[in-house]
Amino acid sequence: MLTIEDSGFCQSRIGQIETKSGVVDTPFFMPIATKGSIKHISPEEIKQIGFQLVLGNTYHLWLRPGDDLIDRAGGLHKFMNWDGSILTDSGGFQVFSLGARAKKNFGISGVKLTEKGAEFIDHTDGSRYMLTPEKSIDIQLNLGSDIILCLDECPPYPCSYEDADKSLKLTTRWAKRCFEHFHRQISKNPKKYSKGRPKLFCIVQGSVYEDLRKESTKQLLEIEFEKLGGPKEGWDGIAIGGVAVGEPRKKLYQILDWVTPLLPKDKPRYLMGLGRPEEVVSAVCAGVDMFDCVIPTREGRHGRIFRWNSKYKTETISDLKKQIKSGASGEKTANFYETINITNEKFKEDFSPIDANCDCYACKNYTKAYIRHLFRTKEAFGFRLVSIHNLTFYYQLMQKLKMK
Ligand SMILES: [Zn+2]
Repeated sequence: MLTIEDSGFCQSRIGQIETKSGVVDTPFFMPIATKGSIKHISPEEIKQIGFQLVLGNTYHLWLRPGDDLIDRAGGLHKFMNWDGSILTDSGGFQVFSLGARAKKNFGISGVKLTEKGAEFIDHTDGSRYMLTPEKSIDIQLNLGSDIILCLDECPPYPCSYEDADKSLKLTTRWAKRCFEHFHRQISKNPKKYSKGRPKLFCIVQGSVYEDLRKESTKQLLEIEFEKLGGPKEGWDGIAIGGVAVGEPRKKLYQILDWVTPLLPKDKPRYLMGLGRPEEVVSAVCAGVDMFDCVIPTREGRHGRIFRWNSKYKTETISDLKKQIKSGASGEKTANFYETINITNEKFKEDFSPIDANCDCYACKNYTKAYIRHLFRTKEAFGFRLVSIHNLTFYYQLMQKLKMK
């Protein structure tokens, strides 16, 4: 079941996605549990902040410890002790991005792309693997994921028009194979899915070209689902991929303007791999419902802290939108938050919390001076406190985006 409705502000929407593991309120941000763990934070703490869904990486979990092992453990939820929902990516993005590293480490070309799938070399030990659309679905089903992504080809930036065109057509053919295989596997196991099946999302590609983005969307939505053995309503959601690959930010907003008007209103939309708070706000205003990004945790581990700027009112989506400015190059900036680096000398004797108005575990119990000391001495507890705070900031951001 799914309810997503226009909120009455810009193109933003508010709703709920009911997965086989529970309800997820939209719009939402997903903490990233790359290898089945959100770095430095326990699933209980993630739940306590308020998150209802986390993202697991198919590529990493397939290679180590293996999806069969996780299946035998009772699925990823049980394995990592997380009873909320889980979204898994297709593994494609890592195959292509880590392929380059295999070349560096083993002197052999990292990825070979064919119609069948992507053959690649594990960047850590040089073993060979083949990821096909069907294999990606099987791995994600073994993991017990609630939201599964189709395997796509995510071209790098810059990408020529011809390459982007070829790539989006391959992505459509792979999406068809994913859809067919997914529904075949689900219908083969009625007992396993009697309480509900996972959801399947396709991925729009087309790089930075308007006609190709529109063509990709059209092709995916025109797939004849019943002929492929699936329900007539087709995709459970649509992801916009091929962004956050180094393209100018101005292009990101154009891509959203091209694609979102073509998408069915009653299906969730997921913008992959983004982003900074101002990008999340702008994308919600353009009609996006789901986000994932390593920023709060990765930057947190480097001492970068996000906090609300108390000079501005930030209670609702309209308050947030008012504080976003566009630069001449199309880059956006926002006044509603600021970042500080906790390792800075000026916090040496600052005995106040990161944000006096924040009710997270780090702000309720610790001072900037203490957290700075933990960073200076490389104590893991410091990474944990800042990750908790930054994820709380992102959670609060998504809550404000639900308020008109
Ligand atoms: Zn806090």
